[in-house]
Amino acid sequence: AAPVALVSGMSSMSRHHIIVKSGPTLEKLSRAKTFAFDKTGTLTQNKLKVSEIVPEQGVDKDELQALAASVEQQSSHIIASSLVDSTAKSAIMPVTNLKETTGEGVTGTVDGKEIKVGKLSFVAPDHAKIDAGATAVYVAINGKFAGYITFKDQIRPETAETIARLRRQGAKQIMMLTGDHKNVAEQISQAAKINDSEVHADLLPKQKIEAIRNVPKDLRPVVMTGDGVNDAPSLTAADVGIAMGAKGATAASESADAVIMVNDLSKVNDAVAIGKHTMKVAN
Ligand code: ADP
Ligand code: MG
Repeated sequence: AAPVALVSGMSSMSRHHIIVKSGPTLEKLSRAKTFAFDKTGTLTQNKLKVSEIVPEQGVDKDELQALAASVEQQSSHIIASSLVDSTAKSAIMPVTNLKETTGEGVTGTVDGKEIKVGKLSFVAPDHAKIDAGATAVYVAINGKFAGYITFKDQIRPETAETIARLRRQGAKQIMMLTGDHKNVAEQISQAAKINDSEVHADLLPKQKIEAIRNVPKDLRPVVMTGDGVNDAPSLTAADVGIAMGAKGATAASESADAVIMVNDLSKVNDAVAIGKHTMKVAN
């Protein structure tokens, strides 16, 4: 394509609040066949609501919340910020020995106790399975399972139309890639009109990368859209990585080929439309 057309396409993108880092990205967007999405914070709203706090017997409910929120205060995961925001500031205690395991959870010392928050398999691998029926984090205090906190993860108002329009724009395949449980993933995919066969749930970060790498040639280029630091590796693995979110300079944007600067998933449609238009006038 003529460089001048690509430059003009990139400036058109920026007028639509989409920062595209290089010309070839426009070309790949114009003929993309697979659109992969992270679920939490990307297909769903960038904030979750705490719905239930379920302590084990003998554990105080407020203490469970305070300890979990305290360990989460420095994590950039959307679950973490949602939990911290719904906890009284005065209840948040300092945390030391902090360690985050991407896509699994966080460990730290709070009030002299060792706190683990995250997936059940991370927090208490020997514990019997719990069907929380919602997005959830599990908590262990000093190595002992202490309860869990559930969240309401709501689909974005623009998600279903964005997916429908991508199919009209020529998408052959949509993929939902999530570390969340299958039952939660399917609640969102049904509302978004994403087929069951397009839902990939219970994935660790490295399995998200594999899912993208395994997309066959005839279903490429693959565009991956994600919002979080934990999505950075899958953005890199895709032919085009798009980082979502008004925050701008997150680690996800550094690994991305394009950054959507506003909190609006339908910008993915705009990116494809501008890519197609640019290639039409360039050839
Ligand atoms: P998604 O792919 O849907 O955005 P992630 O892969 O980021 O989800 O996370 C999957 C699961 O891992 C979450 O539902 C949560 O249970 C757990 N998890 C990941 N990071 C954290 C964290 N910082 N705090 C608590 N739980 C976490
Ligand atoms: Mg996410």
